[in-house]
Amino acid sequence: MDYTQLAQKYGTPLYIYDFDYIKNRYESLKNEFIARKSLICYAVKANSNLSLLKMLCDLGAGFDCVSIGEVKAALFVGAKPYKIIYSGVGKSELEIKAAVNLGILMINIESPSEMLLVEKTAKELNKKVNISIRVNPNIDPKTHPYISTGLSENKFGVGIKDAKNMYLYCKKSEFLEPCGIHFHIGSQLSDISPIIEAANIVSDLVSELQAAEIDIKFFDVGGGIGIRYKDENEPNLYEYAQGILSALKGKDMTIVCEPGRFLVGNGGELLTKVIYQKIGQNGKKFIIVDGAMNDLIRPSLYQAHHEIITPNLSDKSKFELCDVVGPICESGDFLAKDIKLPELKDGDLLVVKSAGAYGFSMSSNYNSRPRAAEIAIENGKDRLIRQRESFEDLIKNQREFV
Ligand SMILES: *Cc1c(COP(=O)(O)O)cnc(C)c1O
Repeated sequence: MDYTQLAQKYGTPLYIYDFDYIKNRYESLKNEFIARKSLICYAVKANSNLSLLKMLCDLGAGFDCVSIGEVKAALFVGAKPYKIIYSGVGKSELEIKAAVNLGILMINIESPSEMLLVEKTAKELNKKVNISIRVNPNIDPKTHPYISTGLSENKFGVGIKDAKNMYLYCKKSEFLEPCGIHFHIGSQLSDISPIIEAANIVSDLVSELQAAEIDIKFFDVGGGIGIRYKDENEPNLYEYAQGILSALKGKDMTIVCEPGRFLVGNGGELLTKVIYQKIGQNGKKFIIVDGAMNDLIRPSLYQAHHEIITPNLSDKSKFELCDVVGPICESGDFLAKDIKLPELKDGDLLVVKSAGAYGFSMSSNYNSRPRAAEIAIENGKDRLIRQRESFEDLIKNQREFV
């Protein structure tokens, strides 16, 4: 890839997505479930660029949404309502009302109080709503604590026993139709055995529900498949799929999975440019670049590691230890710490790898910085899929000041 040309054409910092790679990831996961009915619902929060959503929609993907905004974005690119799932611990009454009216595949309920509110809303609208319940199987996914979601101490879902009682309630309700069962135990899992373990626990619950004549069609295993940022092992997709299929032995259910990071993480890069270099008072070298924590917060938020490469340097012999930092007024504003980079000049380009998931979608305008542009590479051609923000964008929602 000619990064110099892309930087000239679109400016930096710049998100670059390889759509061909993302398509391949989708197809490879879909193919693992070929023997069964399955629906791959892309987790929109990982990267909600509309062109990306459209591309996945055209491949047949469904969408896992965690706000009504994401539901609307999926519909906006042409997704069928019956391929949209809506999850989240804190859906407001207005959001629930909108979701019921839109007639999506299922509302994924995360607490008894939410269930009652969904029922009340459905009754007011005189509609029967398809629901699933998010079960928290209390399994340690062995990932970063901020992205672990399937332990009883986490805020997500309900315990097995509560879930059963909720399904029994739904069965009697005129307005709630038990349609799916769901779990999502965490993100960036390199070892998928906790997912398989969870699948077995939840499958046992399905058996109990079947005995109570509650017939659930969709078995939703959530997302969480890890990717390689540095030296992590990527889970084996065959083992992942086979583990789930064997947990479902004897059950005629459609498998739903909700990959986010797996599909897009390594399909994206953040291109950034060196502004200055300086030596700190303790002798530490700082590479100051034009990308910052407002563009990519993962290093600051999760101590996440992103490889950084120097695409255009011919002499890569002299390596120096340095921190790659942004212009934001926070000591936590860094893209990498204590990494070795070849000797750089001001104006050189750096590529931050594996930035396709939870990169742009977690970006902000902190320090009144306009958010970056995004481009897609498809069939060897680049195109702009989101314009860089301007000063006018930053202030457009503010009203008269006194
Ligand atoms: C975040 C999330 C996902 C996607 O997680 P990844 O680790 O990116 O695959 C899937 N399902 C739910 C409910 C989520 O909250």
